[in-house]
Amino acid sequence: MDLKIEELEMYAKENHIPIMLKDGITFMLTYIKENQVKNILEIGSAIGYSAICMCLVDKDIHVTTVERDEKRYQEAVKNIRKFHLEDRISICNQDAFTLELQDTFDLLFIDAAKSQYIKFFEKFTPFLKKGGVVFSDNLNFHGLTHTTERIESRNVRGLVRKLNDYISFLKQNTMFDTKFYDIGDGISVSIKRE
Ligand code: SAH
Ligand code: MG
Repeated sequence: MDLKIEELEMYAKENHIPIMLKDGITFMLTYIKENQVKNILEIGSAIGYSAICMCLVDKDIHVTTVERDEKRYQEAVKNIRKFHLEDRISICNQDAFTLELQDTFDLLFIDAAKSQYIKFFEKFTPFLKKGGVVFSDNLNFHGLTHTTERIESRNVRGLVRKLNDYISFLKQNTMFDTKFYDIGDGISVSIKRE
């Protein structure tokens, strides 16, 4: 049976899986198309939604993606198979920090634990080609990273602090030229300087 993208979006909604928001994914897919991105590394596959969307932009696109949650990984494998993309999406069921890579990539997409963005960036950007790009999702965290009000939950406060640290880290990083977009849940685009 063939599956439609809308069905993945519905499944994600019903099961509270935090896939990319529609305008966010559209923005990233436009970049991929316009810049002829071919090799992509994604951190945080969830059910495979964004990896599948990226692959569908062009038949020469390959995605390597990693998901630590066993149930979401199983669901992603099923979805990738239903879209007949098992030759173009390599998915690993492990913590991203244990991932070993040989290849280099045109695009790195960071969309996993918000507290670890700096660490993901440091571990994976050495595998980025010159002129390559890093997309990072959820930098607004539902508007919380910009709020001046006191956040009640200690846990949420901690995550907001980590995301703001990441935003400062990107601004100060002279190896990359970063722009921030108020699209979806907040996306940064960091281009590796030549
Ligand atoms: N990119 C997906 C959504 C990912 S949601 C999409 O838009 O379709 C974030 C996912 O990252 C979650 O499923 C979570 O289990 C996973 N994750 C968080 N930290 C991780 C880590 N350190 N290693 C691997 N996966 C991680
Ligand atoms: Mg996200």
